[in-house]
Amino acid sequence: MIEYTCDQCNTTYPIEGLRYKCDCGQPLQLTKTERVFSIDRMSKDDSTLWRYRGALPISDEKSIISLGEGMTPLVSFDNPMHDHRLKLDFVCPTGSYKDRGAAVLLSKVKELGVQEVVEDSSGNAGAAIAAYSAKAGIDCTIYCPASTSKGKLAQISMYGAKLKLIEGNRAATTQAVLEAAETIYYASHNWNPFFLEGTKTVAFEIAEQLGWEAPDHIICPIGFGSVYMGLHIGFGELHAQGIVTKIPRLLGVQSAACCPVYKAYSENRSQIEGSPQTHETLAEGIVSEAPIRGDTIMGALRETNGAVTTVDEGEIEVGIKALASKGIYVEPTSAVIVRAFDKFVESGIIGAGDVTVSILTGSGLKATDKLMKIA
Ligand SMILES: [Zn+2]
Repeated sequence: MIEYTCDQCNTTYPIEGLRYKCDCGQPLQLTKTERVFSIDRMSKDDSTLWRYRGALPISDEKSIISLGEGMTPLVSFDNPMHDHRLKLDFVCPTGSYKDRGAAVLLSKVKELGVQEVVEDSSGNAGAAIAAYSAKAGIDCTIYCPASTSKGKLAQISMYGAKLKLIEGNRAATTQAVLEAAETIYYASHNWNPFFLEGTKTVAFEIAEQLGWEAPDHIICPIGFGSVYMGLHIGFGELHAQGIVTKIPRLLGVQSAACCPVYKAYSENRSQIEGSPQTHETLAEGIVSEAPIRGDTIMGALRETNGAVTTVDEGEIEVGIKALASKGIYVEPTSAVIVRAFDKFVESGIIGAGDVTVSILTGSGLKATDKLMKIA
């Protein structure tokens, strides 16, 4: 039986009910269960992430809520010197990788018999939770800062979610949703561990697309870290079962405007300290002043011998244009990987002959207002 558990104080709790964090204040993990993934028993006819359903914590297949997410393309990024591949995870139903987490989380919510959820997001996660709630027939309310771009609000409300626009900063929005979460299920992409069970499937896909091998490195943007942690969980499970022979080095990228994970890494600290955003950034999707699962991110960094770098605004723009010149249109948050790759090569972390996969997390169509300014 799957339960919530706290890494800090080892308390366990049932997954039913409205609990979203430990009594000690820490985020919760899922207890390990007997689920074992095997390639032989994989649902190979299913061209969605549910082909790995043996590894996913949904007991009843009838609960599965799917919009066809997953199995996104893995393509080569023309580079004569290095084997650098791009995982086009923006090719998901709502235009971002967040659909992986939303699909598994809303399937679990459906299985638990929950009728109504709340979530707070200023962007892609809100759209994903709204879309999968619509498909599941679950009432959904998304709390957003009043300053959220109109395009994102349109996508969320078009899915039928109720929008609560909160005046003030991001913290005011968080405060409002936490009050609602006292009586309504909090389908949080940051607090709810079932979300990470969805994002871990990107590891399974990359491994399968490489012939059940792990690449040497994976580069991804880090805000709250849900791709980064998902990659660690996913490759950790595949490695523990002997399906891949190694776990890739996980290389994170932050915007120089807000980089608490980079600071902890570069100052050789084991814990992340909150770090305020210093200026506006194109990479709005990874602005996270105090990641909720900071200890888990630092654990993944340590265990995979990973590294973190930052990019500035000019470097993000270079990345957007470099990708677009090859026909790939992503939101600025995804484009951070381009110059980050160069920096990891320059610092000797990525060597000649290494295989590197970078995750492209969100579509350029999500950020038309920002991209028009630099086109
Ligand atoms: Zn605890």
